[in-house]
Amino acid sequence: MTGTEKISNLEVGYNIPAEIGMTEGDIQTPCLLIDLEAFEKNVERMRYFCAESGVSLRAHGKMHKSADVARYQIKHGGALGICCQKVSEAEAFARAGIEDILITNQVRDARKLQRLANLPKLGARIICCVDDLDNVGELSKAATSIGTSLECLVELDCGAGRCGVTGPVAALEIAAAIDAADGLIFSGIQAYNGNAQHLQEFNERKRAYKAVETVVIEVIEALKQKNLHCQIVSGGGTGSFEFEATSGVFTEIQCGSYAFMDAAYGRILDKSGQQFSGRTFDHALFILTSVMSHTKPEHAICDAGLKVQSVDSGLPTVFDQQDVTYTNCSDEHGTLEDPQGKLQINDKLRLVPGHCDPTCNLHDWYVCVRNGSVEALWPITARGMAL
Ligand SMILES: *Cc1c(COP(=O)(O)O)cnc(C)c1O
Repeated sequence: MTGTEKISNLEVGYNIPAEIGMTEGDIQTPCLLIDLEAFEKNVERMRYFCAESGVSLRAHGKMHKSADVARYQIKHGGALGICCQKVSEAEAFARAGIEDILITNQVRDARKLQRLANLPKLGARIICCVDDLDNVGELSKAATSIGTSLECLVELDCGAGRCGVTGPVAALEIAAAIDAADGLIFSGIQAYNGNAQHLQEFNERKRAYKAVETVVIEVIEALKQKNLHCQIVSGGGTGSFEFEATSGVFTEIQCGSYAFMDAAYGRILDKSGQQFSGRTFDHALFILTSVMSHTKPEHAICDAGLKVQSVDSGLPTVFDQQDVTYTNCSDEHGTLEDPQGKLQINDKLRLVPGHCDPTCNLHDWYVCVRNGSVEALWPITARGMAL
């Protein structure tokens, strides 16, 4: 385990929530907790599934933004590298020694293009996505001016209506331009449908995936006709990974949330109609919170409000207490319905955040626990990095 062995000049409770060796009861709240056993189990399950399916894993680092988590996924979880979404995240990961990075996004600003082109100098293979012919010239100019080379994937819109080109004609035009451009290498295609990931039923997600696959196969065939070979076909997330991984079409999958899980992913259903939570993957990420007020008999107030979590995908669920429900939040307060009057002042609860990615981005540290004590503190390396 690559724990941060010694944190100097930082004071527990002032700017860090815990120290190594502390018992869980002493951790300062609210903070993010990683249950290491659950995390390691999730990472191993995905490693095994990818190995069995003969597909590579490129874990999405936008979820955790942590060099320690990325290193663990590479060292123990079968990941060949990581994805991220922003140039600043790629810089943080490259500086931390991650050597294979795909930015699953468009880079258009002149300064950002320069920073992107500079990244291979840190020793990393850098891949980015392209969905516009003009961007090919911009990337080529940046790479040649710095003397590096960038790999490019043509991004396809697979139904999310976000970035990406539609159809083989546009994809072919961009791929041929990349192939001909100085400083650029055409590596393949990016095909991710974010809208499909949280569809409740397994068969709904499968149907959405099939629509993606149809587009991808059509584009691969059109490229092949022009001698453009896709070394990389990348896509898939925590809701759809089983389809991409076993397709024989995708070479790598980009799951992010699988390592931590959240309440929204916990609710989607697997093939047998059972919730993902505790079956497909375990909850490994929690907001640790404390009860700080209980002046009303039927509800308690805890210290985890909006400033420590994102509630865009729903409120958090209470992990370790039956009969207690998180029902409301304001900036720094959370309301816990406690009809049986079970909660006491200073009781600590593990909340499962509704949506892990934007929740992690609000914190500086992961407090990693095993058997009730703190084993490591992992800084959230790229926290807040959106540039
Ligand atoms: C967020 C994201 C992923 C990972 O999705 P999860 O649902 O967290 O597994 C993969 N690819 C792209 C392009 C993404 O934006």
